[in-house]
Amino acid sequence: MRRIGSCLAALALALSVTDLGAQDLLVVGGHVVDVESRSVRTENLLISDGEIVGTPTDVPAGFDGEIVDASGRWVLPGLVDLHTHSFGNRAPVEGAMEFAGTVVTSQRMLYAGVTAFLDLFGLEDQIFFMRDAQRENPTPGADIHAAGPCLTAPEGHCSEYGIPTRLMSTPDEAREQVEELAAKDPDVVKIVYAPAGRMPSVDRATMTAAVLAASSHGIPTVIHVQDWDDIRHAALAGATAVTHVPEEDVIPDDVLALMAERGVASIPTLAVHLGVSGLTTHPEWLDSPLAVGVTSASIRDAYRSSEITPGARRWRDRQIETGPTILESVRRMHESGIRVLVGTDSGNPGTIQGWSVHHELMKLVAAGLDPWDALAAGTTNAAAFLDRAYGVGIGDAANLILLDASPLEDIRNTQRISDVIHRGQRMDRDALKAG
Ligand SMILES: [Zn+2]
Repeated sequence: MRRIGSCLAALALALSVTDLGAQDLLVVGGHVVDVESRSVRTENLLISDGEIVGTPTDVPAGFDGEIVDASGRWVLPGLVDLHTHSFGNRAPVEGAMEFAGTVVTSQRMLYAGVTAFLDLFGLEDQIFFMRDAQRENPTPGADIHAAGPCLTAPEGHCSEYGIPTRLMSTPDEAREQVEELAAKDPDVVKIVYAPAGRMPSVDRATMTAAVLAASSHGIPTVIHVQDWDDIRHAALAGATAVTHVPEEDVIPDDVLALMAERGVASIPTLAVHLGVSGLTTHPEWLDSPLAVGVTSASIRDAYRSSEITPGARRWRDRQIETGPTILESVRRMHESGIRVLVGTDSGNPGTIQGWSVHHELMKLVAAGLDPWDALAAGTTNAAAFLDRAYGVGIGDAANLILLDASPLEDIRNTQRISDVIHRGQRMDRDALKAG
């Protein structure tokens, strides 16, 4: 969020009134939720060229754009998901898969108020092609950001899905892989590091070499981790963020101190850690207009099915057991000043593209973040991780959602979306819905 000040805004308004075009938008009378200053003000937002350009008290002279009446509604920045696999959805029943593809998924996400996402492992050339095509010729859909492949050990995590990824075993190979990948301009480099896990993993020197190589190109790194040692090593290597939360025990004090001191962010993905248990315990969540709008009946029905796979049942039981520990670690991270950011790991069983961002917000509040901090984690702070200026101030991207009830009174109200504004335009949400 860039607070340039209202005098500049007034100046911009004076200069540009005659240039306002039909694409311009005026959002009138909403309760504007400013997560940075933790305040709500009733204000009009003037939008032009995809940005918020003013807060006029009246309709500017010469304005002939669309006026959105937001009175009685809450206006907040768009949501961002920093951990997705945007191919579609999977549910915990044999064969329950929905290959919607990244473009359709991006539309459903937008329906759910998610205006940007970070794909953390997909088909490298395909995902970069779709991202670049979207940047060149924007069509309705959440903004695609992508890591491309995972950097992992031969037969390591990410190699089990039957799609190619980048393999490395030595620091030299790590540097080579990052060098090649950097030429494709990934938004982040994703590295799998879990030496104590069941699958093979790169060693510490190789992970560190990959982090340093990415940093030398100015590319942020996201490290998939499994235990607290993995996080210690990732932090010492200079990683930008770690994703997932170790389940065995609560975060040790030295890891808290290290993450805080090194400025390592956490993308905990509570939505996947607690997803199968959440959706099978609360099948009524699947009846919400939002859930219905983003997925097919077959995926939703899978969570109510008696045919949930034995593996998923064990996973659900473990989630119920480890949930409190995971939430406590997230609470401690947040209280220690570590940036906790919204990411869902959607694409995995227990998640639904778009909907799970709202589940993640619910879980962050359950962990002990107040609604303001949870909203910042899913809007301004998550966007800043992608180098995007989200907010409700002048100069911020005009990616906004309008809600029928206050998300500060009840975080579940983020699901009560009645309008989505993306790249400065009000979206036709019906056209984005799952068919
Ligand atoms: Zn993932």
